[in-house]
Parts: sequence; structure tokens; C-alpha cells
Amino acid sequence: MLKEKSEKANIFNIVHGSFVDGWGIRTTVFLKGCPLRCIWCCNPESQLMKPELQYIEEHCDGCGRCIDKCPKGAIIQVCPGEKVSIDRGRCDGCGKCEKVCWPGAFNIWGKERSAEDVFAECLRDEKFYKESGGGVTLSGGEATLWPLFCLEMIERCHERDIHVALDTCGYITTDEGMEVFKNADTLLFDIKGLAPDVHKKNTGKSNEIILKNLYLAEELGKDVIVRYPVIPNHNMDEAPDIAKLLSGLKCVHRVDIIPFHKFGGGKYSQLGRVYDIDEDTLTKEAQDALVKMFEERGLKVQLGG
Ligand code: SF4
Ligand code: SF4
Repeated sequence: MLKEKSEKANIFNIVHGSFVDGWGIRTTVFLKGCPLRCIWCCNPESQLMKPELQYIEEHCDGCGRCIDKCPKGAIIQVCPGEKVSIDRGRCDGCGKCEKVCWPGAFNIWGKERSAEDVFAECLRDEKFYKESGGGVTLSGGEATLWPLFCLEMIERCHERDIHVALDTCGYITTDEGMEVFKNADTLLFDIKGLAPDVHKKNTGKSNEIILKNLYLAEELGKDVIVRYPVIPNHNMDEAPDIAKLLSGLKCVHRVDIIPFHKFGGGKYSQLGRVYDIDEDTLTKEAQDALVKMFEERGLKVQLGG
């Protein structure tokens, strides 16, 4: 039974017509906030729960219109006409600068939206879900950090017989978050390594909770697609052990192998952060060998995702 007041969450993107976030054609809703800090993360804008300012310096023409609009005094211009810089310690992501910047140098990642509003946007794609066996995917970040929003989205979707996938890092520690986990129709479950100490080094957290939740998914008979980001010199040598573990789980219906890429690297500087990983991307031969390794274990594999 839906409540009168729709729950809100900070949404940083909605992708329509996705083929890589579960079964069929999907609308993927990206929520802000993640408990992990993977050093290869290609969505750094997803990590914090609060809104964040993206500053694309190349777009700034130095007009200076934004400076007085900032209530925090966070925008600095050393000389008139020069490109500005942002004092990240002061900026609270209020978005007042974005409204006056006509060249489009600013964008706020993370706008508060209700589940009712987001669901209405998803409904525009309803006919594609029916035709393709797709649906809505709740992603992030870690969407379960906004459990009431997610539960309302699931309830609204299920009322119209729309399939819901949850894209999760598996690090869920609250009862409310686990309700989302249990109520989603499909879990896109990230496995980023097996050795706890290596996992902690790579992501900031050990993986005991993640593996416990993977086994719970097996116990509950969930429909699981595992996503394995393969990062040379970080977790690639664990591939044989990961394939072995997954081949023993009935709940795993597909493994998406995601070779390391650097597509999100440019966003770090736009957030005032440093992109600190410099591995090579995987050769075609290395990717094919990985696919073969997992298929030989009887697993269905998709490259990319
Ligand atoms: S309003 Fe936009 S273009 Fe003008 S100084 Fe500020 S960031 Fe640069
Ligand atoms: S988002 Fe708000 S606080 Fe941050 S620089 Fe823009 S106006 Fe200032």
C-alpha cells in the first residue's frame, strides 16, 4: 500500500534504453552514495550521498557571473576574465552557480527526486519492457542506501507488473537495505575479489558481508547476474577462483565480465579529485581467455556490462 508522501533520493542519472543493466531493455536509475571506494571506480560522482558540483573548466569563459551568486564564497577568480576555480571545502552543492552559467561549466550531480516522479519517468519506457523482457534497474552507487525510495519504486513497478533489478555492491548492512535486496526480482551482484585483505585494499572494505549476502541470495533462490570488473594487478589473478566459486551457485544465471576501462577518469578532476590508477586495458586475447575460463565452468558469460 503506497504512502501518501512519496520518498525522495538523490538521483544523479537516469539512462533509458540500457541493454547492460540486467535482462532486456531497461531504464536504469542511478542513486548517489556508496559504502565502497573502488580505486578503479568509473562513477566517482556516485560515491557521496550528497549533491556534488561538477566543474568543466574548459567551458568557463571567465565571465564572473557565478562569483557573487555563491552563498559560500567557494568560487575563486584570481584576475577578471580568467577561468574560475572551486574551493571544495566550502562548496555544499547548492547549485546556485549552475543557474547563471550559460556556457554550461557547472552541473549538479545528485538532484533530489521522489519515487513517484522517477517512476513516472520510467513509465515512458513501459512498452519496451514488455517487448524485451526488461524493466527498471535501481543502481548507483549503492541504491539500498535509500531503502524507502527503492521499496516504493519496487512497489510501484510490481503494481504494474514491471520487473525490477537491483544493481548492488553486496555491502548491505541494514535491515531496510536487505528488504530491498529481498524484494528485487533480479540482483546484479558485484564480485570484486575473494581475498578479504586484497578486497579491502582495492575497495576500502573487506568482503565478508558481501560474500555472506551472495550466499543468502543462493539460499533465497534469487535470480542473480554477477558482475566482475577485471582489473589487471588488482583482482585479475583471482579470476579462476571466482569462476570456481560462482559455478557452484545455482542462483547465478549469468556472469558479466567487465574489463578495466578508463572512461570515467575525466570526471575525477571535474570533482576536484585525483584519478589514481594507471593500469593497461585488457587485450582482446586476455578478454577471450577470461570468457573461456568462465564458460568452461558451465557459466553463461557476457562481456561488458
Ligand atoms: S558563470 Fe560559468 S563561465 Fe562564467 S565565470 Fe562562472 S563558471 Fe565561468
Ligand atoms: S554549488 Fe553552491 S556552494 Fe558550490 S560553488 Fe556553486 S553556488 Fe557555491
